[in-house]
Amino acid sequence: MYATTLRCVFCGTDYPLTHRGSCTLCARPGEENALHETLGVQYDLAALKRQLDREELARRPAGLWRYHELLPVVDPTFRIDLGAGGTRLVRLTRISEAVAGSRLLMKVEGSNPSGSFKDRPIGVAASVALEQGARGLACLTSGNIGSAMAAIAAKAGVSSLVMLLGAAGLADQEASVNVEKYVQISAYGAEVVTPMGNLGQLYALADRIEAELGWSFLHNVQAYQTDGDKTTAFEICEQLGWQAPAAVFVPTGTGTNLFGLWQGFVLFKELGFIDTLPRMYAVQPMGAASLVAAWEAHQAIPSVLERIEPNLAPPISHRVSGYHAYKAMQESGGGAVAVADADMFAAMKDLASYEGIYAEMASAAALAGIRSALALDLLETEEIRQGSIVGILTSHGLKNSLALTQIFPPQTKVEGTLEALHSYLELKKVELKK
Ligand SMILES: [Zn+2]
Repeated sequence: MYATTLRCVFCGTDYPLTHRGSCTLCARPGEENALHETLGVQYDLAALKRQLDREELARRPAGLWRYHELLPVVDPTFRIDLGAGGTRLVRLTRISEAVAGSRLLMKVEGSNPSGSFKDRPIGVAASVALEQGARGLACLTSGNIGSAMAAIAAKAGVSSLVMLLGAAGLADQEASVNVEKYVQISAYGAEVVTPMGNLGQLYALADRIEAELGWSFLHNVQAYQTDGDKTTAFEICEQLGWQAPAAVFVPTGTGTNLFGLWQGFVLFKELGFIDTLPRMYAVQPMGAASLVAAWEAHQAIPSVLERIEPNLAPPISHRVSGYHAYKAMQESGGGAVAVADADMFAAMKDLASYEGIYAEMASAAALAGIRSALALDLLETEEIRQGSIVGILTSHGLKNSLALTQIFPPQTKVEGTLEALHSYLELKKVELKK
């Protein structure tokens, strides 16, 4: 075991690995603020350097547990393996920016077992929780965390409870839940409820579930979720021939994934596996962009938004993003951009129709963010042409297809004859010209 302590990136306080919840000096339970997810897992770097090298890692099968020394699970029997990780890093070739010479790559996280990147953070956090004695698993989610957790719980043979919301930031705005995710979570056998109340009230409920039932509420082991997110960064570096990209664009709600990726790049550099670090960019939907507002105001601790505006990306619609993400953007020389629904839709459609990658709208935000950064001249020409610009496509498009039935109307019924088909195609051609 190479993990040593949990350390607050804001105040520097260390906690034992069994600590639950946030840094007690920085955040109060139940209160929404940007200092809730400041804990990160520390490792014994000297021991890791003696134990691990690039050749050893390269010999192992792909996936989350390829990096087990860099993850905090001690007993191999608790490393629950659904086959998470080992996803493709795809170079775009047909969308206009790629044709114009930009070196754009997408990390396709929708091909994880439950269809989203959450199989990494939840895979690690749930494994730690069960190793530390949890009797069941619980979470509060707009869907992807719930799907990942319910799948892990099924494989581990423990009970799970999913509190499903339309979007975390919309806890008390009565947004409807994502039907595909509800069905997927239910299929894995989890109990699914939609609790009524504001987020503070729901976190208080979560604490009681943990204290009185002995279940692990996964928000309380946030540091271990972040730790699982590191593996995405490890894979990207390996896939680029042990090099970091020039910049990474991450669809960002709370900011945990962005911070986890950054920790992964930093750890690989500290171990001597890569020489440089990427710039980290957060991409948020307009109307739910607390990190973008904070970045523009040079305010390291983002403020909680009064309300968030409904948009096409509920998974990344939170009232506040974390200080940890701001810090990663700042340390890396990156930034934050906000994208409109139309930009996310165009990115989703282009990824699917030019590159054959069907991503959830909140994931396609990554490409929309890259486009926004290119338009705003945030990236150097050399970075765009020589380095690699990586977008994290966090989840699969099938996660949220029903919401798009207004945009893609039902298909036309055509008589089964060549003449009728011909007339239809002629008609389409006329329509397309308009
Ligand atoms: Zn602290």
